[in-house]
Amino acid sequence: MQMRIDASAAVDASQAYYVYENWARNRCRVHHASCTNCNDGAGIQARDTGETGRWLGPYSQKAYAFKIARSLGRSDTRPCMKCLS
Ligand SMILES: [Zn+2]
Repeated sequence: MQMRIDASAAVDASQAYYVYENWARNRCRVHHASCTNCNDGAGIQARDTGETGRWLGPYSQKAYAFKIARSLGRSDTRPCMKCLS
C-alpha cells in the first residue's frame, strides 16, 4: 500500500520557488518564496489583482521552476532581480 503524497505540502517553504506569469507584459519571473515580491505566491495585494498574471508553484527545485517558466513561452523570462540575481 502506498502513501499518497500531497505535492504542495511536501515543499519546504524555505526552499520553495514560484513562477509569476504576466501576460499583460508578456513576461515571466522566477522567485524564491521569501521574496517580498512573491510573498509565498500571494504577490503584492495592491498590485496583484489577478487580472494581469498568475502565480504557479510552489516548486521545490529552482531548476524545475525555470523549466516551467520557459515552457510558458513568454518573450521575457528571467530570474527575479531582487531574490535570485
Ligand atoms: Zn523575487
